[in-house]
Amino acid sequence: MNIHEHQAKEILARYGVSVPRGHVAYSVDEAVQAAEKLGGPVWVVKAQIHAGGRGKGGGVKVVKSIDEVRGTAEAMLGMTLVTHQTGPAGKQVGRLYIEEGCDIARELYLSALVDRGSSRVAFMASTEGGMDIEEVAARTPEKIITVTIDPAVGMQGFYARQIAFGLGLTGDQVRAGVKFIGGLYDAMIDTDASMLEINPLVVTGDGAVIALDAKMNFDDNALYRHKDIEALRDETEEDPAELEAAQSELNYIKLDGNIGCMVNGAGLAMATMDIIKLRGGEPANFLDVGGGATKERVTKAFKIILSDENVEGILVNIFGGIMRCDVIAEGVVAAAKEVSLNVPLVVRLEGTNVELGKRILAESGLPIVSADDLGDAAVKIVQAVKEAA
Ligand code: ADP
Ligand code: MG
Repeated sequence: MNIHEHQAKEILARYGVSVPRGHVAYSVDEAVQAAEKLGGPVWVVKAQIHAGGRGKGGGVKVVKSIDEVRGTAEAMLGMTLVTHQTGPAGKQVGRLYIEEGCDIARELYLSALVDRGSSRVAFMASTEGGMDIEEVAARTPEKIITVTIDPAVGMQGFYARQIAFGLGLTGDQVRAGVKFIGGLYDAMIDTDASMLEINPLVVTGDGAVIALDAKMNFDDNALYRHKDIEALRDETEEDPAELEAAQSELNYIKLDGNIGCMVNGAGLAMATMDIIKLRGGEPANFLDVGGGATKERVTKAFKIILSDENVEGILVNIFGGIMRCDVIAEGVVAAAKEVSLNVPLVVRLEGTNVELGKRILAESGLPIVSADDLGDAAVKIVQAVKEAA
């Protein structure tokens, strides 16, 4: 789960990480009040969306009067902000963060994530902050250092100093940096964050070390023990179909292709997507209906797939173990009738009650193409979509 910059800063501040003072605002009046509370003389109006690159896209503005705060808030609230991370459709701005202006001497980069390779928290530090870290990694990888933390000893002084030196901190800044890095580590471990990025981390004119931007991601599987963090979820930032799917306990992730997939089991779903690609098609989604799905859930899954206007064909690939093939078949038939299916549908069933399932499909009177195995199913759906186009 993702949260907004202002929320991440609030969490980090609790762990002793220095952040600029600021207030969230949902309206122009609130933005003005926030600016008055801060006092100026320089304010920064920052669009709160779950994507970076706001600066270049016009979502971060430095202003020097309350009138400018008002004008900028008026322009920014409700605007569709397009950045290199939002995709061309952009994101609508529903809230702002009004922050005190910071006297920036240097912009640095610091992030931490759970590194799957080492199964440990790894910090990445660079003197090249404020810009695309991907670009730094591609052009000048030697400017990024990685420090992996051994969980048995936690964040030790020598790790923190190594990171601070990687940031190019010197003299008194090192001490401030070590405290900052310790705070980040504690915040990450305590909240079960999977990723934390401070870009830029700045050194100010008088040598303070401050998080000027903050991004945090959390492990969804640990949210049950962080109700306070779960409450920060901003549903307007999430894909409506994915939200609806989650409410029906379906694992659905929208993708860019045109072949909708309905599969039981995450492994089989991955294999189905792979084989569609192998046959020259592009999956429109990942959808795992789970082991014990009911007819209602299958119907729901079907509707969610069809709500994606890019879908030009559907492949249902079910292995009936816990789930019986006849239940799936009934769900598919009921859903196809209910939504007046107008794209080709290929169904591959295998397992418990497969004969009964196939008979239900065949006798439904619907133009359902039956497939015998995974390879056959993929060839048939790719072909059917091509023919329909
Ligand atoms: P994004 O990464 O989405 O572009 P940032 O929060 O990193 O957004 O802001 C972009 C740039 O705007 C920063 O690199 C910094 O130069 C400037 N900036 C952001 N917040 C402040 C602030 N409080 N004071 C001064 N400059 C700021
Ligand atoms: Mg940034």
